[in-house]
Amino acid sequence: MADKSFFIDTTRCTACRGCQIACKQWNSLPAEKTNNWGSFQNPADLSHNTYKLVRFSEMVSGGRLKWCFFPDQCRHCLDPPCKDAAEAYVEGAVLVDPATGAVIYTDKTRELSGEAFKEIKAACPYDIPRRDDSKGLIAKCTMCFDRVQNGLLPACVKACCTGALNFGDRSAMLSAAKKRVEELKAKGYAKAQILDADSVRAIFLVIDDPKSYHPFAIAQGEVASRRRLALPRLFDRNPGMIAG
Ligand code: SF4
Ligand code: SF4
Ligand code: SF4
Repeated sequence: MADKSFFIDTTRCTACRGCQIACKQWNSLPAEKTNNWGSFQNPADLSHNTYKLVRFSEMVSGGRLKWCFFPDQCRHCLDPPCKDAAEAYVEGAVLVDPATGAVIYTDKTRELSGEAFKEIKAACPYDIPRRDDSKGLIAKCTMCFDRVQNGLLPACVKACCTGALNFGDRSAMLSAAKKRVEELKAKGYAKAQILDADSVRAIFLVIDDPKSYHPFAIAQGEVASRRRLALPRLFDRNPGMIAG
């Protein structure tokens, strides 16, 4: 079962938000009070109660208005910098599920201070972690590892009827993504590309400048330097790690 990934084909996304609702239903997350802030995107951002958010961006291309839809979520990084940052404070706050590769935030995130949360959030190249300040819990997409371990698709993938969200063995998802890029390039979409595929388990495909979809569509900041910032604290807690 190990080594799962998403393939998220934004060219097939209609922004129906079925995935967003399915995520809330499966995870028993409440709706959020929103207001008109000038966009069809709703709510305005991810939160500890919204793990999946279909981002809407408007751009003008060739004199025509164009929508860019981006069903944002945790990328389940292969080598997650948020885990390094959390481990520096509380062991076991962030785990990697060996069965799927999912990066899981546990109840131990409640033991992390507000300052520690800021470091964890800053360590994430995709601006994903959110904190419930009233409970201290840090939350994000779980990859529905409880469903996946029982042979089910993640709830968001199950709800997506357009083929935008796909999930399965990593090698199969990578192959499907690369094949789709070639198809799109053959149709004239010269900018078709998959994003950060070597380092994440949520592989997004876009056909335009990634930043026109979302400023954090691709990793922001130097991931290696984020890791270097987290590691000295980790060594402080585990001096034995320095040996050798
Ligand atoms: S369910 Fe599929 S088509 Fe609908 S918003 Fe989500 S990713 Fe897009
Ligand atoms: S996307 Fe961010 S929150 Fe998700 S695993 Fe990577 S570093 Fe952690
Ligand atoms: S995998 Fe599960 S937790 Fe993650 S966004 Fe999809 S439905 Fe939500």
